[in-house]
Amino acid sequence: MARANKPDAADSTIYALSSGAPPAAIAIVRISGPDAGATLAALAGSCPSPRTASLRRLRDQRGELLDHALLLWMPGPCTATGEDLAELHLHGGRAVVAAVFAALAERGLRQAEPGEFTRRALFNGRLDLSAVEGLADLLAAETESQRREAMRRADGMLGRKLDGWMRRLVEIAAALEAALDYDGDDDVAQQGSDTAEAIAALTLEIGTALAAAPAERLRDGVRIAIVGPPNAGKSTLFNALVGEDAAIVSAIAGTTRDAIERPVALAGMPVVLVDTAGVRDALDPIEAIGVDRALRERARADIVLDLAGEQTGAAHVIAVAAKADVAAARAGALPVSALTGAGLAALRAAIATVGAGLLPRDGEVALDRRYRDALAIVHAALASAAASDDPLITADEIRVARAHLDGLIGGGDVEAMLDALFGRFCLGK
Ligand code: GDP
Repeated sequence: MARANKPDAADSTIYALSSGAPPAAIAIVRISGPDAGATLAALAGSCPSPRTASLRRLRDQRGELLDHALLLWMPGPCTATGEDLAELHLHGGRAVVAAVFAALAERGLRQAEPGEFTRRALFNGRLDLSAVEGLADLLAAETESQRREAMRRADGMLGRKLDGWMRRLVEIAAALEAALDYDGDDDVAQQGSDTAEAIAALTLEIGTALAAAPAERLRDGVRIAIVGPPNAGKSTLFNALVGEDAAIVSAIAGTTRDAIERPVALAGMPVVLVDTAGVRDALDPIEAIGVDRALRERARADIVLDLAGEQTGAAHVIAVAAKADVAAARAGALPVSALTGAGLAALRAAIATVGAGLLPRDGEVALDRRYRDALAIVHAALASAAASDDPLITADEIRVARAHLDGLIGGGDVEAMLDALFGRFCLGK
């Protein structure tokens, strides 16, 4: 389990607005740290019963009435941050929040940095590193598939998987050490073949995880480039799929000179639609730049909607016969009229089917680059451990695998990574 260094001034008691910006019906102020209980008692006259909602009058040090608020008092360590924690559910006006903040500052409390509550939760072992990353993704999730994957991570699924792998590696290492110490024993020979099997099984499992769809594609969206010659109907189709007039639509060939992209949610899936310039022999230098970009977009895309029946070389091509209301559909292509809307539902369904294959499957934990890079080293070390007949080399490779897995889980230097990670959090989280 990840343990960060003790956060700066973790002895301080912090507060922040954890709900949306006022004005709103309710504003939730969270307070975490050793003085949370005393602060609550001072504001409300006495500390409410733990873990029960209590309606109280809040007053500042001069006895001035600040608000009628619902209070939650949660003594640590079984709280979100692992510290004493209080929540004030205030009336969500700007002046109410400002007055309560002033009263908290007056009592020596400090406003939290972005992500500071979560940082304390990590430090106190309430969350592991992959769960914190999942939480960051959950707060950023905009589509259903992003929410589901982030929820799995925030729930600790990846952390448990990594911990399980680590446990198996430790067992393998122990068995190898035993084999080195007691050479020649029959039992040890049997154990040796069990260990080889354990190494092979772990190599296979990590290899499978590495081969699964990457997490970035879920975070950034499946890139779908619409390609075809000028006037093929790319911009019109782009607009129809995006559902608004985002791109320039014109009957003059070569109007779309640049790649225009729009992130959209398609069947609960994050997608980035890219309208590319028509690929033809460009007539002017600016158009030539657009054509060049179009070719690059084509190579970069996860899915190509091909309006021309060209061989694009991309891994996933959906052949589209555009302008189906006026033109005869070419064989094998999906007839679509962006103008009348005919065939658009079938096209969306085809995109959803191909896209689903490119995203992490339900129940599968997606790995982002940091995890893939480290696990690739773990995998390579395991593979060479499995391939070696020399027990010393095998033991050495297992040590390498353990060190890299340990770094990933959080045993290594994680501070720089933590700073980057917590930079993604909002205030009050
Ligand atoms: P692009 O150069 O490939 O982006 O093509 P545009 O989307 O700008 O479309 C070129 C011309 O074809 C425009 O006049 C559009 O109105 C027309 N067009 C596009 N899609 C359709 C369609 O589905 N049916 C019909 N009848 N015309 C279309």
